[in-house]
Amino acid sequence: MIRLTPFLWTGPVGSGHPIGFVFSQKEWIIMATEPLDTLKLIAKRLARAQQLPHIAALEIVACEAGKSNWRSLAEAYKQGWRPSPQKLESLKANIGTQSVPGARKNASPHGLGEGLVFSRCVPDHVEPLEADEIHGELDGHTFYLVGSEYSVAFGSQGWEIELEQAPSAKPKVRRVGLRAKSATALDPVFIERATKLLTIRARRMHAEIASDWPRRSTQPDHKGRALHPLGRGLSAEWHCLHCDGTHDGNTMAKNLWHCPDCGASPIDIFREPFFDVIEPSV
Ligand SMILES: [Zn+2]
Repeated sequence: MIRLTPFLWTGPVGSGHPIGFVFSQKEWIIMATEPLDTLKLIAKRLARAQQLPHIAALEIVACEAGKSNWRSLAEAYKQGWRPSPQKLESLKANIGTQSVPGARKNASPHGLGEGLVFSRCVPDHVEPLEADEIHGELDGHTFYLVGSEYSVAFGSQGWEIELEQAPSAKPKVRRVGLRAKSATALDPVFIERATKLLTIRARRMHAEIASDWPRRSTQPDHKGRALHPLGRGLSAEWHCLHCDGTHDGNTMAKNLWHCPDCGASPIDIFREPFFDVIEPSV
């Protein structure tokens, strides 16, 4: 068993200054018997912290370990090469911080540049985008980001931008503060950037929605048949009770079983069109 020290959430990578937000007070305790597994875990942490593709994080870790890429690292490992314990320790301590040159190349983990600063998360022992509640500053405006399994919302300057469950949902801007400026006074660039952050947060909501569904509900088979998450069977064609829309299995899976036309939830999605399921009156 090894211990990973908590690492610093460095503000926008490339901004040259950490924002001093330690996103984990507790130490991670990770089971790893092989140094290769430890390197993989470090890469996983890095990918999550910097919002990088997993493969990109592996490449960075490989370079830091002195290899030209992950493939050659894995090859060398097979031949008996091992990172020195000191190297492993320093990687564990530094990965995710400014001292990782590979990570610095990525302009910003969220593509939002220097204007984004996280100040507080609830709970405080998780990474910012995994918190239920996030507080910070975007382009000089304080904001909060909250979410549940039904929607996520970004609030600032007396306004909230909300994204509902369906991946096809469009952001809704609504006034929540009594003294909020008129919507037209809100900077469109700010709204766009806030929506970008909100969209990143929404991905977690989407993953949570589908977490207890059968695999076939999100990954249709080769015939395009998808399994309804509420047990209405397998089909390549689905019908919305709400708007009579017809959609294929791939579309339903991709939109997490919400109607892409009207946003109806999975409970309104059936295998047969509505007119076929009406019980004949006696
Ligand atoms: Zn519909």
